[in-house]
Amino acid sequence: MAPEPEPDPVFFECGHCNTRVQGKEHGRYDFYLEDMPFAEERVLVSCGNCKWPNLIGREFYGTLGGTDQWGEWRVHPATTRTFGPDVPKAVRKTYDEAQVNLRSGSFLSTALMCRRSIELLAKDQGATKGDLAKKLAKLQEEGVIDLRLFEWADALRLAGNDAAHEDDADYDISKEDADDLITFTEAIIDYVYIYKARFDEFRARRPKRTHPPQSSARKTGTRTKATGRAGTPVVEH
Ligand SMILES: [Zn+2]
Repeated sequence: MAPEPEPDPVFFECGHCNTRVQGKEHGRYDFYLEDMPFAEERVLVSCGNCKWPNLIGREFYGTLGGTDQWGEWRVHPATTRTFGPDVPKAVRKTYDEAQVNLRSGSFLSTALMCRRSIELLAKDQGATKGDLAKKLAKLQEEGVIDLRLFEWADALRLAGNDAAHEDDADYDISKEDADDLITFTEAIIDYVYIYKARFDEFRARRPKRTHPPQSSARKTGTRTKATGRAGTPVVEH
């Protein structure tokens, strides 16, 4: 009996140790259903570096110059994040597009879509005047984002500007930078629409405390016996 042809080796970025490796294959399932534009595969692989399992999705795009062309992405641990209705549709859609661009290796477009996500978030949060730098400053002023997130958002703005205006034809953004831009964008969306809203709801459910607010303690420089640090009021339980 003729030996089975060797399956294509799968190279992927491990979702556990973030190293790009050739996976050791443990199983492959290929399938094509009527409503699918292309055939797909799922390949169970272990990482050559940290040994943890990953599930890789592959989609067949056709052949080019006699070579099969496949799109690849990691199914588990998941690389894509889907937001629900808490996030405005325009922001959600733009962020999804940034993720698709990242997955297909279009890093400049990833930077553009990340910047646009932040632009739409600022608009939704009522910052409509001036350029994006001014809008972000206003969001920070009003406490919609804190200083650290302001810095991240500003980095996204600048990377997006470079992606849009750099006239060097070879200018590109590295995969690492594009990855980081996605992470920052996701964190800002999470903070504004998910965590902040949840924390506000949580606080509203809690009984009111009567101790003095922290800011007045800081102003008078009171020291507390419990910590000896200035301006740290002790909460009595
Ligand atoms: Zn690994």
